[in-house]
Amino acid sequence: MLQPDSLFSDRMADVPKSFIREILKTTVSPEVISFAGGLPNRELFPIQEVRQAAVGVLDAYGAEALQYATSEGLYELRQWISQRYRSQQQLDIHPDNIIITTGSQQGLDLIAKILINEGDSLGLEEPGYLGAIQAFALYRPSFRPVPLHFDGLDVQALARSLDRFQPKLFYTVPSFQNPSGISHSNANRDAVAEVFRNSCTLLIEDNPYGEIRFSGEQLRSYAARLPDRTVLLGSFSKIFVPGFRIGWIAAPDRLMEKLTVAKQAADLHTNYFAQRVLLQYLQTSSIDEHITRIRDVYARQKQAMTAAIAREFPASVRCSNPDGGMFLWAVLPDGIPAREVFDAAIKENVAFVPGDPFYVDGRAASTMRLNFSCVDEDGIAEGIARLGTILRTRIGE
Ligand code: PMP
Repeated sequence: MLQPDSLFSDRMADVPKSFIREILKTTVSPEVISFAGGLPNRELFPIQEVRQAAVGVLDAYGAEALQYATSEGLYELRQWISQRYRSQQQLDIHPDNIIITTGSQQGLDLIAKILINEGDSLGLEEPGYLGAIQAFALYRPSFRPVPLHFDGLDVQALARSLDRFQPKLFYTVPSFQNPSGISHSNANRDAVAEVFRNSCTLLIEDNPYGEIRFSGEQLRSYAARLPDRTVLLGSFSKIFVPGFRIGWIAAPDRLMEKLTVAKQAADLHTNYFAQRVLLQYLQTSSIDEHITRIRDVYARQKQAMTAAIAREFPASVRCSNPDGGMFLWAVLPDGIPAREVFDAAIKENVAFVPGDPFYVDGRAASTMRLNFSCVDEDGIAEGIARLGTILRTRIGE
């Protein structure tokens, strides 16, 4: 019989388990106020509009909407995305440079698949998005983390890392990052772009939260600064619904052929009916009004969270104050393991994600991810008050 070690491929050996999924199991009970999730707020899903769009597609296209389709994705949807880049970010991206993917999560997989050999250096910000760490780990890279501070990437550490390791890729979520809610300021982006300009590294800019902005300066994409070497990942999960699993890659010409081949090999194409329904929705409803509703709700909930933190948390706990997105980041005084705080919190029926899984070396982190998209303002005030009591006891302030 095969031993477990020889049963599984080598590539599975280093893929971290989603610790968050484990945590979520402990937080499903209704008494728990959970800041642990990472889901868009389902109360905002446009159910009625989706119903109308689905019926509209079947009426207009019938069997055609249920047939196999092209690997690159529905051309009109790619045109819509191209126009959106122009209107929102003044970026000139041709529809031919866009591939529709099964969520932006698949974009991460395809990029790593076409570029990463075992042992290749891969740069990323730390803390970083766990789903990207998982997707990349399958290709067994050597991760080269660079610290993320409250105003963006550590520019000097980045310069040293690019110089020393010359990574093929560097992965970043520069706007309202998951897990931290932190954005690279425009000044930070200028300095970071300057460092990349002197390297051979491709920058992977993942931006699922960019349109969920409540305040602050308009942040200009790295693609505006480094058009030939920035690969953009986008998603409809946070501005429409995640269940459709529709995202995209926008990449320079030289990557397109291999990306298309990898997409074909992975799943032939993204769900075509879902693409058609989404396009119908975009053509018959106002996604801008919908995004405004999402922003207003998340903005109020974020405001409730920062106000409660100011009242309840010890001053030595430093927190991000995100201008958008779904997450807020708390940094505990050194040496206090967030997992211990989690164990105490769960006894008080409040949950968050301890920072550990967002670091590639699996260290015991003193950081916490707090999600504000799914708990109402009263729940946020109560949950943060409970956490505040635990933190004050643990820190002794
Ligand atoms: N990137 C980041 C930073 C995310 O937070 C997420 C969703 N949690 C994804 C990519 C994947 O999103 P999707 O596959 O739904 O587009």
